[in-house]
Amino acid sequence: MSEVLETENIIEKDDAAESEAVTETGTDTKTGNDAFFGNDTVTEAATVTEAATVTEAATVTESDSDSDTETEAAPEAPKDMVIRVRDLYKVYRTGETVVKALNGVSFDIDRGVFCSVVGASGSGKSTLLNMLAGLEPATKGEIVIAGQHIENMNESQLVTFRREHVGFIFQSYNLMPTMSSVENVALPLAFRGMDKKTRNRKAEEMLELVGLGRYKANLPSQMSGGQQQRVGIARALVLDPEIVFADEPTGNLDSKTSEEVMNLMQKIVEEKHQTLIMVTHDDHLASYADIMIRISDGKIIENIDNRKRDTNWIEYFR
Ligand code: ADP
Ligand code: MG
Repeated sequence: MSEVLETENIIEKDDAAESEAVTETGTDTKTGNDAFFGNDTVTEAATVTEAATVTEAATVTESDSDSDTETEAAPEAPKDMVIRVRDLYKVYRTGETVVKALNGVSFDIDRGVFCSVVGASGSGKSTLLNMLAGLEPATKGEIVIAGQHIENMNESQLVTFRREHVGFIFQSYNLMPTMSSVENVALPLAFRGMDKKTRNRKAEEMLELVGLGRYKANLPSQMSGGQQQRVGIARALVLDPEIVFADEPTGNLDSKTSEEVMNLMQKIVEEKHQTLIMVTHDDHLASYADIMIRISDGKIIENIDNRKRDTNWIEYFR
């Protein structure tokens, strides 16, 4: 019984967060869908539900950004390495206060690996993830994702980069409240300019895969937190991205639902040989991963390979 109440509370909170994120579109604040899909297109998508218009808006934005997308591949990166980070710093200045959210971080992640980034609140986990996803610029350092140096990209290159390579799963799901499950999952496909019939078919297949075949027509408010996050997972994976980022994906879920969502995420990513980077403050959830990167005060303090039987404490570049 209390679970039901909790779920309702969660949904209310999410709806509030959702509308906030949508209203803030056009400001500098980079949160949720706006930041991830690019401000212009999400405004269109949020206000115009007619799918054809969304496609048009998406196509226009995409061809705009195509002209300056000449990102060079990094030839030095080995084929199976999908993420390479070197001496990464992020410094926030607020008035007199200076915070080194990331204080010299270096690591590599191979393709197909599930990596968790674990640490206490304020340790720099979200900062790291946002920089890897190209949502925030680094102060200093090198980030090579799927062979591309993203630290040198401009905003429109980053939007294109994210659409082509990256899926993102948010703690608060960030579903469009007025769209059904199918429409939410189909949204990233509209940004690709795919026709409506094809994108609905693909979205429906994804919903089947996450066990929500019977909830295709449901709005987010008509689903539990766990179901909403499964829609979030389906949306993140529908474009078959090479890399999936998840920031506290089970942070709003009870422990049983968290386990289910974790198992689902892990299963799909493994089947599709995708790379999953998940941020969590929870050691138990972090231990699901192949690799655990523990961070504290903006520094990596442990890098553990869970795949090796004898606990292997690898310390990269400290
Ligand atoms: P975590 O996700 O591990 O909880 P964050 O990456 O969100 O931690 O934050 C790391 C540090 O950077 C914290 O001290 C936080 O207060 C600070 N920080 C994060 N974002 C900003 C920002 N936009 N402006 C100023 N300080 C920030
Ligand atoms: Mg965080």
